[in-house]
Amino acid sequence: MAITKKQTAELAKQVFEYAPAPEAIDHIKIQPRYGLFIGGRMVDAHGKKRFPTINPATEKTLSEVAEADGVDVDRAVKAAGKAFDSWSHLSASRRARYLFRISRLIQERSRELAVVETMDGGKPIKESRDVDIPLSAAHFFYYAGWADKLEWAFPNRKPRPIGVAGQVIPWNFPLLMLAWKIAPALAAGNTVVLKPAETTPLSAMVFAEICMQAELPPGVVNIVTGAGNTGFLVVSHPHVKKVAFTGSTEVGKLIQRAIAGTGKRLTLELGGKAANIVFEDAPLDQAVEGIVNGIYFNQGHVCCAGSRLLVQESIAEPLLEKLKRRLSTLRLGDPLDKNTDIGAINSRAQLEKIQGLVESGVEEGAELYQPECVLPERGFWFPPSLFTNVSQSYRIAREEIFGPVLSVLTFRTPNEAVEKANNTPYGLSAGVWTDKGSRILWMAERLRAGVVWANTFNRFDPTSPFGGYKESGFGREGGVHGLLPYVELT
Ligand code: NDP
Repeated sequence: MAITKKQTAELAKQVFEYAPAPEAIDHIKIQPRYGLFIGGRMVDAHGKKRFPTINPATEKTLSEVAEADGVDVDRAVKAAGKAFDSWSHLSASRRARYLFRISRLIQERSRELAVVETMDGGKPIKESRDVDIPLSAAHFFYYAGWADKLEWAFPNRKPRPIGVAGQVIPWNFPLLMLAWKIAPALAAGNTVVLKPAETTPLSAMVFAEICMQAELPPGVVNIVTGAGNTGFLVVSHPHVKKVAFTGSTEVGKLIQRAIAGTGKRLTLELGGKAANIVFEDAPLDQAVEGIVNGIYFNQGHVCCAGSRLLVQESIAEPLLEKLKRRLSTLRLGDPLDKNTDIGAINSRAQLEKIQGLVESGVEEGAELYQPECVLPERGFWFPPSLFTNVSQSYRIAREEIFGPVLSVLTFRTPNEAVEKANNTPYGLSAGVWTDKGSRILWMAERLRAGVVWANTFNRFDPTSPFGGYKESGFGREGGVHGLLPYVELT
């Protein structure tokens, strides 16, 4: 008996359905309340205010966290200042030993950290497990290696640490951003006060435990939780000598204005609106995977996300067909499920921002495509989306959406691709997909972006510097360049 088309479709559905594969959570202990990590131990905050941190996939409160006030920040900066004297004079190989120890402990506690990161932030467990946590350990491991080789990093110069670094990080890669900030600072002999984002403080609290486990001297790392105001108190404290910030361009500008003229060193890693450029000679199936990874990884909460697809006109149709088909296979849902591709949006506020920008795209005349996709009832969710018929002037082509939303534009010639890619106030990253090595180099020379990926996207390595041009900020993190902001060279 012949099988009908409908039966084939049913069968395919059955064969490719995934059984739930949730990661166990019984091995982690999230405390109901957290204090601040100051002077090597957890202390009660002076400020009496607390705020809940919730799981964005369920909207359930995970813990209550202290909101550090001016007195708390001052205590943290003083603890870091006191620790600086001995830490900066410690032999470099001993400093390295602490960093190696921290790296090992992150590896040992990686399963716990991955679960905490996923529950607090909403990202799929396969990303926190395979990307965030291993890369965080790798950063400490990498900078541990530099600690006793600083004079080779800066030949014929004498590098000296700067003092207390005030560091403020965002919610999209909480532990990884912590590692990007703390590892080079400590390797170069500085001490730090770090403020994690309001919606994702928990992995930083586990990191505080790791510092204690590693017997890191008290005060070398201090962690104060709170909202934007706490961040502002950290960066504007008069004894903070170096400020490192990752977050929105708007807040980056605020900080730059606030500390102008104080002599504080500043590095800013801000927003982006990266172009992912696909030429007609690119291997299309690989490009489709790169586009998906570029914009739907971490729900698009990625500063370097490939949020503008520039596709050569001659292949726009087949590429979009493949891309739409691929989108329909992405699995959205429980971030703790190992099969999930798209997790929860980090917060209600971020969801509203995404919704607002997507509405503006429709109103301005772009065509929205979303695959059929059932959104869970509770929590914050947005389906993977793409816009065609996009003009460069639309908000969705200009503003950072920071969500799983792709804007597709076309080009005819390489020059047009460069012009459109660079037509943005940002300049953090770009991607080029082509068969020709010469074209990759030609494009890389002309793209005003701190990172240009060729035939890949969103690939990170602690040895390679990362940072932006224009409104994407300045200064580099990662690699030997990442040490530079933390040393005085004579
Ligand atoms: P913010 O820039 O506000 O947050 C980044 C960090 O800075 C957080 O720890 C935040 O604290 C803190 N902060 C906020 N205000 C100040 C201040 N005045 N002084 C010092 N620190 C401050 O980003 P949002 O979380 O509000 O996200 C808004 C938009 O920014 C997103 O929609 C996205 O477009 C973009 N963004 C870009 C990122 C990137 O890496 N390029 C990362 C995050 C966001 P708290 O979280 O407690 O408010």
